[in-house]
Amino acid sequence: MRAREKRSGRVVVIGAGFGGLAAALRARAMGYDVQVIERLDQPGGRARVFRRDGFTFDAGPTVITAPDLFDELWHLFGEKRAEHVAFLPVRPWYRIGFADGRAFDYGGTVEEMRARVSAFAPGDAEGFVRLAERTRALYRAGYLRMGAMPFHRFSTMMRAVPTLVRLGAWRSLYRFVARDIADESLRRVFTLQMLLVGGHPFRSPALYALIQQLEREGAVWFARGGMTALVQQLVRLGERHGVRMRCGATVSRILVERGRTRGVVLESGETIPAEIVIANADAPMVHEALMPPGRRRSKRRLDRLQPSMGLFVLYFGTTRVFPAIAHHTILLGQSYRALLDRIFGTDPTLPDDLSLYLHRPTATDPSLAPPGQDAFYVLAPVPNLRAPIDWDRARQMLRDRIVRILSERIMPGLEACIVSESSLTPLDFRHDYLSRDGAGFSIAPILRQSAFFRFHNRVRGVRNLYLVGAGTHPGAGVPGVLCSAKLVETLMRTAA
Ligand SMILES: Cc1cc2nc3c(=O)[nH]c(=O)nc-3n(C[C@H](O)[C@H](O)[C@H](O)COP(=O)(O)OP(=O)(O)OC[C@H]3O[C@@H](n4cnc5c(N)ncnc54)[C@H](O)[C@@H]3O)c2cc1C
Repeated sequence: MRAREKRSGRVVVIGAGFGGLAAALRARAMGYDVQVIERLDQPGGRARVFRRDGFTFDAGPTVITAPDLFDELWHLFGEKRAEHVAFLPVRPWYRIGFADGRAFDYGGTVEEMRARVSAFAPGDAEGFVRLAERTRALYRAGYLRMGAMPFHRFSTMMRAVPTLVRLGAWRSLYRFVARDIADESLRRVFTLQMLLVGGHPFRSPALYALIQQLEREGAVWFARGGMTALVQQLVRLGERHGVRMRCGATVSRILVERGRTRGVVLESGETIPAEIVIANADAPMVHEALMPPGRRRSKRRLDRLQPSMGLFVLYFGTTRVFPAIAHHTILLGQSYRALLDRIFGTDPTLPDDLSLYLHRPTATDPSLAPPGQDAFYVLAPVPNLRAPIDWDRARQMLRDRIVRILSERIMPGLEACIVSESSLTPLDFRHDYLSRDGAGFSIAPILRQSAFFRFHNRVRGVRNLYLVGAGTHPGAGVPGVLCSAKLVETLMRTAA
């Protein structure tokens, strides 16, 4: 535990996603008086919960990697995470199903994975070991070093460039993997992680292959009681130590006077004064809508950014249990690149051939559904709101197509036993989370939007205004946003 610090001053955190909650806890541990303002009626952001008909549906993140990043937050206050929320191991980490009916169980040590690769595509076993070595090097450079450095100075970027070039981190992830893996199905296995942080595996830099090593270092976990239990416990941790949480209030403007933050104004007109503001709202939206007029970035400039893809998420409960379904299943469609190009291309359209991620939390924690029943969600990557799609019509069409694919491939008789269902489209992402373009993961993880070129964790030209969350360095995903909160703490310390 750190020695308790005694800094004074008020901090307002806009948004209670994982990034905002972590930043609030870190600011509180530094001694500040901290209040979190969240527009939804509950904390968690994309990790909010829907409770319906006896089912608990976590709305967003389901995979916990890098559990130590959560442990640190309890440790700040001399507490142990495990005494408040249990992390349950998930095996396999993911089951990947191919269109030809084959499946690959992903996860475990390099030796375990080597054996599975060898059984699946014997010619790739040694290539896999080489790939694992190269991803370890990227993890060291990209996660341990770059992820711990605030990239608000170009000089930091320039210092990192030689290592990144030497490791081939600037190439496309797919090319990086293809160097060692010949089997097309396995190439998909080792690149699809990119979709889990909103990127196109053929266009995102190989730097993100570090996710594979991140998983190997910390394994894959699920919170007992669902991800919502983890959110609740983070909120309680804050409350025990004086963080104030206010839900159901939307910040409409950040107050800036003489180059420094003075607080925030709510949609209701109420002003909340603060010396420090940490925005966990979508970073492009902060620059477009929350900054005072005169300090906003133009729509044209923000339109030049590439948003990540959109997501269609269908939550459903079933009247019976599907015991053969793993906790995490990825069902790949026939095509890979063609499907991704349709979603991410310049003229995006709804794909006919879908790739799906299926979550069955009841495989690890049956308490999330009534006895004898199962809770699921299924997620399909889709175009964001820049594509002219009528989401009111597309919602039903996608729902029907997804239920048909699941019934045909792994869950026979599904349609007849669905008892509770709801869905989110990119329109809901825009409306609920105020996500620009309805993006699932804020701006896309491409080279020209990474590190120095991503939103900085400190806003230039305004003292005491910080950004945390998916649109900022180092990027989307729960480990990414927890790291961004650490970077905000580092910057607050150097500013003080
Ligand atoms: C369906 C889905 C599945 C995912 N699965 C995984 C996974 O398994 N593992 C993983 O690591 N990552 C996963 N991710 C990504 C991960 O969930 C996100 O990158 C991460 O949770 C985002 O956290 P954040 O801190 O950026 O905040 P967000 O969760 O985006 O929260 C921001 C909050 O700010 C609030 N807000 C916005 N504007 C205002 C305002 N003006 N005033 C007040 N409040 C405001 C919003 O309401 C929201 O609650 C998933 C994402 C989705 C959508």
